[in-house]
Order: sequence, then C-alpha cells, then structure tokens
Amino acid sequence: NDLASLLGVSVNDIISTCMSLGMFVSINQRLDAESITIIADEFGFAVEFTTHDDEVDVAEEEDEEGTLIDRAPIVTIMGHVDHGKTSLLDYIRDASVTEGEAGGITQHIGAYDVMTSSGKRVAFLDTPGHEAFTAMRARGAKITDIVIIVVAADDDVMPQTKEAINHAQVAGVPIIIAINKVDKPQANPDKIKEALSQNNILVEDWGGKYQCQEISAKTGQGIEDLLEKVLLEAEVLELTANPNKKAVGSVIEATLDKGRGYVTTMMVQSGTLNVGDVVLAGSFFGKVKAMFDHTGKKLKKAGPSTPLQMLGLDGAAQAGDKFNVMDTDREAREIATKREQIVREQSIRTKKHITLDEIGRRLAIGSFKELNVIVKGDVDGSVEALSDSLLKLSTSEVQVNIIHKGVGQISESDVLLASASDAVIIGFQVRPSGGAKKIAEKDEIEIRLYSIIYDAINDVKDAMEGLLAPTV
Ligand code: GDP
Repeated sequence: NDLASLLGVSVNDIISTCMSLGMFVSINQRLDAESITIIADEFGFAVEFTTHDDEVDVAEEEDEEGTLIDRAPIVTIMGHVDHGKTSLLDYIRDASVTEGEAGGITQHIGAYDVMTSSGKRVAFLDTPGHEAFTAMRARGAKITDIVIIVVAADDDVMPQTKEAINHAQVAGVPIIIAINKVDKPQANPDKIKEALSQNNILVEDWGGKYQCQEISAKTGQGIEDLLEKVLLEAEVLELTANPNKKAVGSVIEATLDKGRGYVTTMMVQSGTLNVGDVVLAGSFFGKVKAMFDHTGKKLKKAGPSTPLQMLGLDGAAQAGDKFNVMDTDREAREIATKREQIVREQSIRTKKHITLDEIGRRLAIGSFKELNVIVKGDVDGSVEALSDSLLKLSTSEVQVNIIHKGVGQISESDVLLASASDAVIIGFQVRPSGGAKKIAEKDEIEIRLYSIIYDAINDVKDAMEGLLAPTV
C-alpha cells in the first residue's frame, strides 16, 4: 500500500507485478529491500536506501576523536560438553569475590566481570556454549571479543570442540585454547595440541598463532596465566569505547521476578548507563530503577564492558536485543510500539533468509555474490565428497562457501549458524532433530535433504544458474 502511493500506481498493479515475479503478497505486507528495488524498477523508479530506518533504529552518537578509551574484553567460553566450561566460569567468578564483599555470595546473572591480579578487568558471558553465542549473533548482537575454547586434556578434540571453533571462526572472533583438567593423571596436553593441529589450529608453542594455556578448573592452576593471555589478545585488538555518551549495549538475558518485576541482564558496550536513564531494549522500555553487579552490589553508573542487572523494563527483552538510552519516555514508547508492530507483521513478511529458490531472484537483481552452505551427512566420506563438489560449483559470479560440515544429524546449533550466516543446510542421509526443525521453521532456514549426492549437486547447480523450478 505504501509503495503504491509512493510510486503513484494502484495497489493492484503492485500486487500483480509481485505475482509476475513469483511473490504472493498482501496489501499490508512489508517487502524487503531487494523486492522493493525490482518492483520499483518495473515502474521506472530507482530506489535509494538510507542505512538506517529512522522509525525504529536509534542512531548511535558518533565518537569524536580523543573520546575513546580502553575497555575490558568480553569473553565467551565454549567447548565440548563435560570439558569444564562451567567449572572454569565458576572458578574465575568465585576467585574474584573476596569474603565480606556484598556477603561474598555470587549469583548467576548471565554475565560477570573480574579484576585480574594485574589490575585489569575482564568480562565474561556466563552462558557457556556456542549455541548461546550463535543465537545472539543471529539476532545481530556482536558482544564477544574473544572466545576461550576449553578442551579436556584427558579426552580429545570432540565434535562440539570442532563446532565451537567453527562458530567462533565464522564470527571472526579470535580464539584462545584452554587445555583443561591437567591435574588429572591421564592428562595428555600434547595429544590435544596434536589433534588441534589436525583441525588447522596450531598453538603458539608449536609455532602457530593461537595462544594456548594448560589449566585446571579444579585446582586453579594456570587460570591467572589464561587471563593474562586474554588481556594480551585484548591489547592486540585495541578494544576501545567512549564512556561519555548515552549507553548502548546488548541484552544477555531477562527474567520475571515476582517481587522486582522484569530483571534484565545487560552488557554496556559503549557509553555509560545511569540510574534514572530511559532504556529502550527491543520492543520494551523503562526507566532504570536500580542496577546491580553479579555480587548484588548496587551500581549508580556502569561504563563500557560492564555487565549488570537492571530493574525497570516493562517486559522481557530477548537475549541479543540491542539497548539504547533515549532522551524521553515518549520517544522510547513510540519506537517500542513501532517495533512491536513490526514483530507482529514479521510473520507475514517475505522470506528473509536464503533458499535455493531465492537464488534465481537475487541473481536477477545482481545482489547475489556468495552462497553459504552447511553440509551434514551420515559418514565422513560422503560429507567430504559432497562439500568438494559443491565448492567446485563456484563461478566467477557466485562463490560457494562451505561454512560448516560434519557427520551427524542436523542440530539446533547448525540451524542457528545458518541463521546467523544466511546459509542453506544440505543433509545427506540425515535428518534434522526435532528442535532443529522447529527453529528452522521459525527462522525460515532452508533444510534440503537428499539420499543421492548427485541430486544435491544438481539442485544447487540449477539454482545457481537460475534454473531451479520453484517447489510448492
Ligand atoms: P561443561 O559441561 O563443559 O560445563 O563441564 P563441567 O564444568 O560441568 O565439568 C564436567 C566435569 O568435569 C565435572 O564433574 C567437573 O567437576 C569436572 N572438571 C572440570 N574441570 C576439571 C579440572 O580441571 N580437573 C578435574 N579433575 N575435573 C574437572
């Protein structure tokens, strides 16, 4: 409707043009940027997009020269189950709380920060695992600066270790390896380094670029050194932020507390948050009534890289939602209302993620350069064969990237990765798990299942040549 009035044509004309392009739309439907471009083109208009949508995006204040100062790194811990992620997070947190400080009791609030013995701060996201990490990324949140991959010295590089490495690499976040459980008699750190090298992770003392530290989350051995390595990495990254502006950051988690209302754990990423500020997070807003750190200590203000819990939002924001500080209540309410409306409309929105059918249309607009694919299969041999053949389909126009491949059923984390990286998933002789299927439906991620390799290759090839017959 809006587009019709902008172009000065009838709504029916727009709808029939959409139909001729293979899109079945309703009068109130929101169209994506690419669709608008081609439709406008059909009517002889060129479209210019602004980089942000004034209605629902909040422009961040520019950082002038000289306003940036160093900030603490924000770390996520990942690794295979039982390799000691939780133990490591607990050890670091507990070691930082001195007795007598706020009763010496720590709470799990989803994030915390510690002071290292060298007097520098490091913040941790307290939801271990690459699923949480990638789920946040799928929502557009870039919070983690450094990933620590934990590998148990009495075990091996396991499937989830590889997945974690992969998710961190796809996100472009630097990795530090922590070889854990070295207190155990069976511990064999060299075997782990060897296995890592076979996965293209060559650690520093083997001449590679990855920092690595042997630790015990049980005795605490090596953990201080690990934190120093985190700080070293942070130095290389030159992490900075401007503390003297309105706060911007991300939501880590939110809960409803009977007595206190909605409790939101947030990470300030830039600026300073003060008690009394009006916060807008996703489609919720409210004045900061109170803020606490993970020891329950009240905070009056919180600068960059500070995790905190705030009271005062009028609903449960989602992990990965961005938050901003607004000038007035009214402004916050207006944007929150509009965002809510968009969320409601999103269920009838045109497809956001790539599908093989979509490729032809995107190729036609010339906006398609890369096809990201995740390959899962029942045995290593077929995964490799399929991945290789798909890679070879790359043309001068479209590059095929296999962003992840592995043996086993299609998991929730595969779907999250596809969502975060706009990829299609190809399964060979495997199926998605129940959970994976649900997320794929919700996020509209295409999962294609095959039992003949040749069919899979042909479909992708046809799609890239714009020949794929639409599936109904
Ligand atoms: P997660 O699944 O990766 O979070 O692993 P956990 O932190 O739950 O640890 C799994 C098991 O390994 C638990 O029983 C821990 O007590 C044990 N564990 C973790 N770190 C160490 C360590 O450094 N040394 C020893 N001996 N045991 C550990």
